[in-house]
Amino acid sequence: MIKVAVNGYGTIGKRVADAVSCQPDMEIIGVSKTKPGAEAYVAQKRGYPLYIADISKKDAFTKAGIQVAGSVEEMIQKADIVVDATPGGVGEGNKALYEKYQKKAIWEGGEEHEVAGFSFNASCNYEQAIGRQYARVVSCNTTGLCRIIKLIDSVFGVKKVRATMVRRGGDPGDIKRGPIDAIVLNPVTIPSHHGPDVQSVLPNINIITSAMIVPTTLMHMHFINMELKNPATKEQVIELIKAHSRLGLIEKSTGITSTAQLKEFTSDLLRPRGDLWENGIFADSLSVLDGTDLYLFQAIHQEADVVVETVDCIRAMAGDVKTAMESIAMTNKAVGLTA
Ligand code: NAD
Repeated sequence: MIKVAVNGYGTIGKRVADAVSCQPDMEIIGVSKTKPGAEAYVAQKRGYPLYIADISKKDAFTKAGIQVAGSVEEMIQKADIVVDATPGGVGEGNKALYEKYQKKAIWEGGEEHEVAGFSFNASCNYEQAIGRQYARVVSCNTTGLCRIIKLIDSVFGVKKVRATMVRRGGDPGDIKRGPIDAIVLNPVTIPSHHGPDVQSVLPNINIITSAMIVPTTLMHMHFINMELKNPATKEQVIELIKAHSRLGLIEKSTGITSTAQLKEFTSDLLRPRGDLWENGIFADSLSVLDGTDLYLFQAIHQEADVVVETVDCIRAMAGDVKTAMESIAMTNKAVGLTA
């Protein structure tokens, strides 16, 4: 069993802990919080040993009825691999600790590529992650872009990608972010950083991206245009998407044309937390004009898509599974991602 520690039990960390704990080849040996609160209480209910960054705060946890197993430093010593899901920019500062105990570590997309020197997406570069000491699972938007671009490029060749991301203002549980009533160009400059981030996984892809933030919490929406090297038909692209387990096709017959209906659908399917781990590609939006000009809309559930990728990254770095196909199938089956 691969012993996994989750440093930072927040939006991503709590989902990673649950996804890891249902894998046949992994176990959670601990999760960490900085303050007592609802998530710390949930960690305790789940039976995850809870460690804290600043052990002098132990009394505050004990007073809140939450048992502390020890310090983050002690947790790291017990792990084979650490998933650092602390807020963006914080994780870099933890690297010295992972180096000190020679532990493998995974960072999430809020950190720069350079912190790990390797950026991961299971559908694109699983094999390159095998046995690595450090990796970074790219952000939710980059994950969604990489999955679809890699698939289309491997079959038709992609000459150029243009993508616009309509980004959620904050996660549903986040009361501090916004905007409440604005469309914010973020960044205002074009291209945005998302294109170079895709290139950290797919270096040969020519891509220009732009992004804005809107007052919604549920998901991001991408408008993507790919100029293809070889002609394709809509039907061919649809068949390819159907065959890819992390690309979900939203059929016209569902009547779903929004992120709200999509989130309701995944909740009604009794997915944990209503999570959509796949790209939600709107079948009706998919168009191929003049044979080589592909367009589509896709919804990306920011809280969920990187979670299954993180599980695959753990397995590549610290497990025995040598192919992406095998790991993706194991991860999907364990979390309940079925067609
Ligand atoms: P979050 O704020 O929801 O959770 C972070 C957790 O880390 C909190 O529980 C906090 O208590 C804990 N923490 C803070 N400082 C710590 C420290 N020094 N040591 C240990 N724990 C500490 O953040 P998040 O949204 O889960 O983001 C985590 C990472 O995942 C970031 O890199 C982020 O960019 C990335 N990410 C987030 C999303 C998203 O939509 N939320 C999507 C994809 C990737």
